[in-house]
Amino acid sequence: MPDGALARVLEAIENASRAAARPPARLVAVSKTREAGEIAALAAAWAALRPGDTLAFGENYVQEAAPKAAALDGSGIEWHLVGHLQSNKAAQAAAIFDWVQSVDRPKLVRALAAARDPAQPLNVLVQVNVEGEAGKHGCAPDDVQGLAAEIAAQPALRLRGIMAIPEPHPDFGRRREAFARLRELHARLCAAHPAADTLSMGMSADFALAIAEGATMVRVGTALFGPRPAPA
Ligand SMILES: *Cc1c(COP(=O)(O)O)cnc(C)c1O
Repeated sequence: MPDGALARVLEAIENASRAAARPPARLVAVSKTREAGEIAALAAAWAALRPGDTLAFGENYVQEAAPKAAALDGSGIEWHLVGHLQSNKAAQAAAIFDWVQSVDRPKLVRALAAARDPAQPLNVLVQVNVEGEAGKHGCAPDDVQGLAAEIAAQPALRLRGIMAIPEPHPDFGRRREAFARLRELHARLCAAHPAADTLSMGMSADFALAIAEGATMVRVGTALFGPRPAPA
């Protein structure tokens, strides 16, 4: 973990949130490729800097998250799945994660609901493919309300809002437009489901911009842990 990185990210989140006149956006530390020991170190530093914060960590793959979550059991970490989820891994995901941010189709809604104990509902976000990019995960903007209604009808799931991974346009004006469209989609969702108060958007390169456009949760990896090793 680069020295001071966490403090800088937390401060940047607070500054951007204050400038937007909103409560501080929540941080999800994206820990894919990182060992359990690195996660534990960041969690300890975070708890020391911001006592009372929920220590939220995001993973992309169920198989990668399972041993880490087991090793860190009892550490108070809230686990978020931020990567694509296959329906045949839904039961395992429902057992490991507190949040699944990548729910984008009815089949997955049903598989997660069937696997989860309604006494401890799973927090879910609807992932939206806001720019309609071919081959990308996420439902179409027009399908958000329908999928949200299916989630809301499941006692084992708790609809919490929207997640998106807009294309990383080099032109920040275009990123800003995508974030603004997501804010409008989220406002419409909230009108029907007031508890769906989470808008998860923005990563290391653009989380301050996302907060300016209404993000209530940002997912940050590289800016906290340093660059990821290139895939072999
Ligand atoms: C990897 C990842 C992130 C974090 O990306 P950084 O650029 O490293 O901050 C956020 N969200 C999702 C869905 C990711 O896969």
